[in-house]
Amino acid sequence: MKLFSNILDVLYPNICNHCNKRVPKKTDFFCIQCFGRFEKTNFHKIEDNLVLKRFEGIIPIKAATSFLYINEGNMASQIMHEFKYHKNIELAEYMGKWYGQELKNSVFEKTDILIPIPLHKDKKAIRGYNQSMAIANGIGSILNKEANDDIIIRNKFTMSQTKLSKSERQKNVENVFEVVKKEAIINKRITLIDDVITTGATIEMCAKELLKFPIKSLNVITLGFAYSD
Ligand SMILES: [Zn+2]
Repeated sequence: MKLFSNILDVLYPNICNHCNKRVPKKTDFFCIQCFGRFEKTNFHKIEDNLVLKRFEGIIPIKAATSFLYINEGNMASQIMHEFKYHKNIELAEYMGKWYGQELKNSVFEKTDILIPIPLHKDKKAIRGYNQSMAIANGIGSILNKEANDDIIIRNKFTMSQTKLSKSERQKNVENVFEVVKKEAIINKRITLIDDVITTGATIEMCAKELLKFPIKSLNVITLGFAYSD
């Protein structure tokens, strides 16, 4: 048996998903060094944090948080790249579970449904999955909450915002989202989940659509936090 397990170990070694070094436990996605490289915000412990400030005076978000700072080339930015271009569903769920552990016994546990920011169906077909749904599934599995991606849909395939003027940007995001199952959100405490927050414009548009209905409260959780100009 010992020999057999050694062979398995050689065939399927437990390696860090980032640097390929060996890790002791198969359940560990990263080695100790790589775990230590993630820059946590700890925003969930700060009520009036930078995520909530992005929505202040714009939309009534009750509580908001992000797990990791994103800076060029850092661990979180590399992870976001994995989500977007390598269809790494397992990693997205894992990161959600990790943050879910940290969110236990916080205000973020007080929610009824987790709703990922939807992708347009064509974009979802290209990417192969909605990374925000995978993150929501991870968080939900730890906090015992249902993640639901068929309550609100994305009707428009939005262009990149970078080259547009302010009024063009506003037009670009108008009527992008549509609630298709209103009975599922009425009188519910909702948490919107996204992979990353930069300006907050996408989350804001999606939140405005949900707030057209009598929901009880709205929270926001993102995995990454990027500073915007
Ligand atoms: Zn590593």
